Amino acid sequence: MKGTFRGLASQVLVVNRNLQAVHVTSARRAFVLLFTDIARALDEAWAAHTFDAWSALTPRPEDPVIGTSRGHLRVPRVLQLVTYDRLPRTTIRLTRRNVFLRDAHTCQYCGRRATPRDLNLDHVHPRSRGGPMSWENVVCSCRVCNLRKGGRTPVEANMRLLRKPVRPRWSPVLALAFAPDRPREWDPFLSSLPGAREFGALWEEPAEPVAESA
Ligand SMILES: [Zn+2]
Repeated sequence: MKGTFRGLASQVLVVNRNLQAVHVTSARRAFVLLFTDIARALDEAWAAHTFDAWSALTPRPEDPVIGTSRGHLRVPRVLQLVTYDRLPRTTIRLTRRNVFLRDAHTCQYCGRRATPRDLNLDHVHPRSRGGPMSWENVVCSCRVCNLRKGGRTPVEANMRLLRKPVRPRWSPVLALAFAPDRPREWDPFLSSLPGAREFGALWEEPAEPVAESA
């Protein structure tokens, strides 16, 4: 049952009838949707499988699996909802995580990139002076800059924002699905989402150095 942990921890991209990404769910939930025939599992060629057909597939070495009484069951990477054809939600919620995503975990004052633990939400116009919690008034900042700015406006503190903060236009499912270690199988479904290009550019790892020709 060793592989079971790996399998249950993996996440599954949920797409609608028209193959548009709408959500990310757990492996456990994915099997419920599959078993109850609310969804079909998509293989690497995007062929849709019912639970029975899917269970008959032999897991490939790279597949996450769960252990069952009948052996190893492959956890799908992508699940297609059978009847759901609504479009993905378009309004992204204003949360700490999403602000950090928008700002690519980069302090909007000094440009330093850091882990969420070392970052703060900064109210550009200070909260103590009525600055609202809004996409236009909160930015990601490092602790040093946050402390330095204190309860002042950027002008008063003689600090400058790297970019004007705005509400992101990218699809919320991008924020859910996007992680450097996401399954490659998700990419075709993510790249067509609103804001994918902008979001991807923000997050793209530096390109692999090209081997120099002799
Ligand atoms: Zn900073």
